Amino acid sequence: MINVTKPFMPDIEEYIEFIRGIWERNWLTNNGPLVNSLELKLKEYLDAKHMLYMGNGTIALQIAIKALDLKGEIITTPFSFVATTSSIVWEGCEPVFVDIDKDTFNIDPKLIEQAITGKTTAILATHVFGNPCDIEAIQKIAEKHNLKVIYDAAHCFGTKYKGRHVFNYGDISTASFHATKLYHTIEGGAVVTNDAELLKKMVYMRNFGFESFESFASVGINGKNSEFHAAMGLVNLKSIDDILASRKEQAKIYDRELKELRVRKQKLTPDTEHNNSYYPVVFETEEMALSSIASLNDNWIYPRRYFYPSLSGVSYVKKYSTPVSDDIASRILCLPMYHSLKDEEIAFISRILLRVQNN
Ligand SMILES: *Cc1c(COP(=O)(O)O)cnc(C)c1O
Repeated sequence: MINVTKPFMPDIEEYIEFIRGIWERNWLTNNGPLVNSLELKLKEYLDAKHMLYMGNGTIALQIAIKALDLKGEIITTPFSFVATTSSIVWEGCEPVFVDIDKDTFNIDPKLIEQAITGKTTAILATHVFGNPCDIEAIQKIAEKHNLKVIYDAAHCFGTKYKGRHVFNYGDISTASFHATKLYHTIEGGAVVTNDAELLKKMVYMRNFGFESFESFASVGINGKNSEFHAAMGLVNLKSIDDILASRKEQAKIYDRELKELRVRKQKLTPDTEHNNSYYPVVFETEEMALSSIASLNDNWIYPRRYFYPSLSGVSYVKKYSTPVSDDIASRILCLPMYHSLKDEEIAFISRILLRVQNN
């Protein structure tokens, strides 16, 4: 069986070594030494000013919205994982969907200004499949209208834009280190910011609002993560160069094997060093996408319709017309992509897709 993704598993002995240390210290969670060490190493790796490690990518988004004190309407993308939208609603704000660019799959900055109202407080955009948004255009609009910018950078570990890790843009960027992501800590997430005041607020919010044992700085939640998760993160970080290199090679093999397949690829934003976190292809019709899935499934291969459905259609949001997102969502497939995926498997998947097309 080949799934769309498979968690990266590090050397078990190295992991056990960290776990022994946890037993010796008897310190399991609450900002322990491994969590601290992982935060420092990630900060260094991402060349980030401030970063906080959290329980998952969704709580990171929710804390980001809360720390920026956002109210009212947040402009966002319909083409993302559901947590981008649900976090906005969970924090009592209203998502306003702006359609995406048909080539980059990211929010279309040309459509943002017409969606701004007196109630708009922020833009929450996703760098889809690790492809950076039009950061300059979004920044310009945000400054003109006094809006905050959050980037859902869950797909972006390893992606650089203009020579810097893409997490360093916007007021806050969030990460997910879920087991299915390119770099993972089993469950996990983070917020990255350049603003020391925001960092301080998020430190309190991550830990129930505690300022000291007996006083609270603000309302808070449990956004912490454990020593066991941090241990996985520390071990996996040692393999990040290997992981990025194998993805790059795998993407090249797909490109070569699928040359004759009539699909559209995601157009990368200029000045990007991409992490190849996913391998999305857009078929000419939904029917072609569905018959490709059926044939792959017959061979025990399970790609995913990422992202389907388009989020402007979920039941708990106001309806917006987002035809480009709806259209791409209906025709897109993410093909299997993970560290241990073999070249022959990529060739096999590609042959099946070509056979469906040429039948
Ligand atoms: C995975 C993902 C999330 C959620 O992250 P979790 O760590 O699973 O909570 C949010 N946004 C996007 C775009 C994602 O892909």
